[in-house]
Amino acid sequence: MAKLKIRKLGDDILRCKSRDVDAITPRTLKLLDDMAETMRAADGCGLAAPQVGVLRKIVVIETPESGLIELINPVITETSGEQEEVEGCLSIPGKSGITKRPMNVTVEALDRYGNKRVYHGNDLLARAFCHEIDHLYGRLYIDIAKDIEDN
Ligand code: ZN
Repeated sequence: MAKLKIRKLGDDILRCKSRDVDAITPRTLKLLDDMAETMRAADGCGLAAPQVGVLRKIVVIETPESGLIELINPVITETSGEQEEVEGCLSIPGKSGITKRPMNVTVEALDRYGNKRVYHGNDLLARAFCHEIDHLYGRLYIDIAKDIEDN
């Protein structure tokens, strides 16, 4: 595994839309492994492929409750409720802001074996799903946050 360079705010790639993964190849699996290592080394709970310079719909998420979740071509299929919480981003170090997100989020995605999976997240995991999938469309939390502050 290898630690990847995390792209920072101001890098145009963070504003680009990612493409679907057409075929899961050894490169895809290596990217998933490297993204998990990069996320853990940076002490984050989520990382999307554009953040490491790859415009493909690939996300890794790890919360204490969820463990490691790998998402390929994720789609949010259902949301409900509402929460307002502090959010940060590995691409925007040293800052955080308050965002409004759904409290419950259902995501459909492929796993690394190409199997279709359905995930239900609430609270932190719901926020992570929204935040990371936003990255695949060039959206950043600062677009919707209020009260952005230095940490
Ligand atoms: Zn982020």
